[in-house]
This record gives sequence, C-alpha cells and structure tokens, in this order.
Amino acid sequence: MEAFHNDYPPTLSREQLDHITNTIKDWTIAHGLAVRPPNEFLSSSQDPQGVAAISAPVTLFPSLFPSRCFSEAIAIQQAYNELYARIAMDEEWLGKIIQELVEVDDFIRELWQIHERVKKDGYVQALQLGLFRSDYMVDISNNSVPQIKQVEFNTISSSFGGLSTQVAALHKYLFDSQLYNTAHYLNASSLPPNDATTTLAEGLATAHLTYASKGRKEYPLCVLFVVQEGEKNIFDQRVLEYVLQAKSIPTFRLSFASTMQHITVTNNTDRVLLYTPAHAPASKFEVSVVYLRSTYTPSDFISESDWDARYHLERSAAIKCPSILTHLAGSKKVQQVLATPSSPYLDKFLDKEKADQVRKSFTAIYPLDDSEAGRKAKAIAIDSAKCQSYVLKPQREGGGNNIYRAAIPPFLQSLGDEAKWKGHILMELIEPPPQKNSIFRGGLLKSGEIITELGVFGTCLWSSDGQKIIYNTNAGYLLRTKGRESEEGGVAAGFGAIDSVCLV
Ligand code: ADP
Ligand code: MG
Ligand code: MG
Repeated sequence: MEAFHNDYPPTLSREQLDHITNTIKDWTIAHGLAVRPPNEFLSSSQDPQGVAAISAPVTLFPSLFPSRCFSEAIAIQQAYNELYARIAMDEEWLGKIIQELVEVDDFIRELWQIHERVKKDGYVQALQLGLFRSDYMVDISNNSVPQIKQVEFNTISSSFGGLSTQVAALHKYLFDSQLYNTAHYLNASSLPPNDATTTLAEGLATAHLTYASKGRKEYPLCVLFVVQEGEKNIFDQRVLEYVLQAKSIPTFRLSFASTMQHITVTNNTDRVLLYTPAHAPASKFEVSVVYLRSTYTPSDFISESDWDARYHLERSAAIKCPSILTHLAGSKKVQQVLATPSSPYLDKFLDKEKADQVRKSFTAIYPLDDSEAGRKAKAIAIDSAKCQSYVLKPQREGGGNNIYRAAIPPFLQSLGDEAKWKGHILMELIEPPPQKNSIFRGGLLKSGEIITELGVFGTCLWSSDGQKIIYNTNAGYLLRTKGRESEEGGVAAGFGAIDSVCLV
C-alpha cells in the first residue's frame, strides 16, 4: 500500500485540468449527479423559487481501492443483510439491548415505546424491507495486509445509492474520453460498474409486488417516500422514484412533517394505509411500502403529532422500510454487542461460515457501562493520551454526532452523570492508507491527501411470520472520500465527496 499512491493519480496540465473540470460541470448536471445548493452557497433569497441545482461534490479521479478488499466487502453483504433481518425478527434479544439505552436516551426510548404500543395492538404486517448499507475502511495495521474493517451498518435512510451509480459512470466517461492521460492502474477492468440505483429500486419493487400479490385491493397501490422538508440531496432519492415509475409503480413523496394531513389508517382489523396526495385531493391510494428517508434523527420530530405520525405508519399494514425494530437494530450499541470478541450472537443468527466471514470485518468496540469491558473502556475514555486512537459514538445517524480523540474526556465530563455514558460506545479508530486525489466542490478544485470509506448496499425482504427471508441481494456500492485531516466524512455535511473505485 505504501507504493499505492506514488504514481497516482496522473499529473495533468493546467489546460487539461480546466478541460476536465468543465466536462465534470456539465456531465454532472446532465446526469442528475447534483444537489440543491447548500444555503451558504446560495441563499433562499438568491433563489426564491428553489430552482437551482449544482454539481454534487465528486472526486476528479476514482480512488485506488484494493481489489481483494472490495470483493470481500461485496461477498459478505448478503450475510450482513441476513444478520440484521434476523436481529430485527428477534424482538426479545434486541429488546434487552435497547432497554439499556432507553434509560439514558430519549430518542431511542420514544421509538421503543411506539414499538411496544403497536405490539400491544398486534402487528398486522409480517413483511419488512431493509435497504441497508454496510460501511468499511481499509485497515493496514495488520502487517500491511490490507483488510476491510466495518465502520457501521445503516438500517435507515441509507443514502447515496443514486448518486454513487452516476459517479462511477462519470469516472468511466472521463477515462473513456481519455481525459486522464495514460495512468497506471486505470484500465477498463479496474472500474467496475455500479448498479446501486436499479438494485435498490428493485428491492422496493419486490416489496411492492409481494404486497400486491396478497388479496384484493379497493384502491390503486403506491409506494410512499417519507422525506425531510427542504432535502438538499433530493436527486439521489428522485432517481429511485423514477425507476419505480418506469416499472408502472405509482410513487409519491410526502414530507414527514405533513404526514398526518395526508394519510389515514383504516379500521383496526386491516389497518390499510391510505394516502391522498395534496395535488389530487379526490384520489386515494393504498400504500404498499413506506420508504423512510427521514425519522432517523431527533430533529425530525418537532411536535407530539410527529410521534403520532410515526406510530400510525408503524401500526399500518404497509411494509415499512425500515420498521422500528429494524431501525433500532442499526444502533451502534447492537454493533458493539456483536463485535464483542467472546460474543456468541453471530453464531446464533448465522451459520458458521457466514458468521466467521462477518466476524473478520469487526474492529474493537467497547461499551461504557459497569461490565468489566466497560470499566476498562472508561479508563481509556477519560485519559486524554490513551483516547487518541478512539472515537466515541452516541446512538445517532446522519453524521456529525461523534466525538474524536482528545475531545472524548471533556465530553464525558460534560454529561455530568456517569450513568449516561452507557448511551455511547467507544470504538478504535481505523486508519486507512492516505492517497492523493482532488475534490470538485462548489466549482472549486481542491487537491491533497485523502482517505476513503466504502459502503456496500444490500436489500432484504423478510417475514417475521415463520422467520423467512424472502429476498436478499447485493445492491451496488458507494465510495466516499474526505481530506485526510477531517474527522467526519459526511458528503451532505460539507466535508466529503462521492467517489468510485479504481481496483488495484
Ligand atoms: P453516522 O451513522 O453518523 O454516519 P458513523 O459511525 O458512520 O456515524 O461515523 C461517521 C464518520 O466518522 C464515518 O463516516 C467515518 O468517517 C468516521 N468514523 C466513524 N467510526 C470510525 C472509525 N472506527 N475509524 C475511523 N473513522 C471513523
Ligand atoms: Mg449511520
Ligand atoms: Mg456513517
């Protein structure tokens, strides 16, 4: 890996760079590799009608990625899909873990209470859909043999499938147009295609068709995307809708904040979820699948009626992507429990071969509770020297929530009560090998040392009735890249860029 970046990426002249950035500017917009501009780029007073779109932040070159690591991450995705489906089906096991969080984390508690309320009424839908993304970094600490180590597993609102498909196509286009000069590593077989858009949409379509195959329906069926107000990463979502529409599956977007104005749930036996679009107040659709691209963060819940909305979605007969149990299965705490070295749980949920494969991708994660491991972890976490190679994570999604290195002890102090620490996990930092690349963001090109994070998408449809996995597929990949020195890699949050792999 050391030699990895010396002769990559190729050097381009000023004229070549101008040409390639102009090409990226147009290609990205022409192919929907775009975002609505962040407010600091273009304020709403400068774009009062909200019509502007700009290129999504992308890398100039595909970043180098060890071929063996890439294949391994792809190869274990279906085992991971099954693992998380089985966790979501095991309410008793999951409940014990969540119980510890409920005591210290209001958001997790509210979600769990909705599950309990619905359980009391009795769930009317046994089918559940997961559009998952398992994230990894390449670790070279072990004798320089590169290995993938999992950063986290996402079970709700796993994003960037749409845009990552397009960035792979962009890099392939730049290569085919011979804009990269001749370079080592870059050749037709080092740039694998990325089919995330079609395979993720296929997952939604499969759930929809399975729902449709059961019983006679009074109203036409639809898939409902429940989204955040003012979403900037909208084209990433839109492209999934367009694939569904092209399959003649009516698909609508509803902002979570206005859910209660547009949905009803029928009587307590069937609990069919009916949707009336604002633009067609005389029509009604029966919702087959609720796809949540919201509700993963406390700030989506402003009033009591937002909690009510989440409750009604959960109790309805629509297939949820994800259900509350599936959402909670994605907690960092669950990942920590699975990653405990002596943990028997992987073997409980998976056959031995799959369990061993998955286990190899774990890195050290510790609880911050009163167990023996927890006490050892606390001693590290309050020591400003020892915590240099760790990250502290709360049970949150969407980026920007973690505490790094020396910031950990003062953060824990600021929590006051030590009992609250157990809402967090302490994770060893993975240090991927840096390489060089350039990021094109907001029209500017910035070059330097970067590191990458690979996400592998998967889709899974299962039935908690009989514990059956009905559909389980790989669904393409995402490569995200950030400056070596930046701690978080959120593309939307303004630190990172979308990338594709050049396999070596
Ligand atoms: P979120 O659910 O908010 O995305 P993550 O666990 O993915 O939370 O953490 C956010 C980012 O922090 C990751 O994308 C990665 O850049 C960095 N990060 C998290 N865990 C680690 C780790 N163990 N080693 C190195 N970087 C990490
Ligand atoms: Mg996440
Ligand atoms: Mg993440």
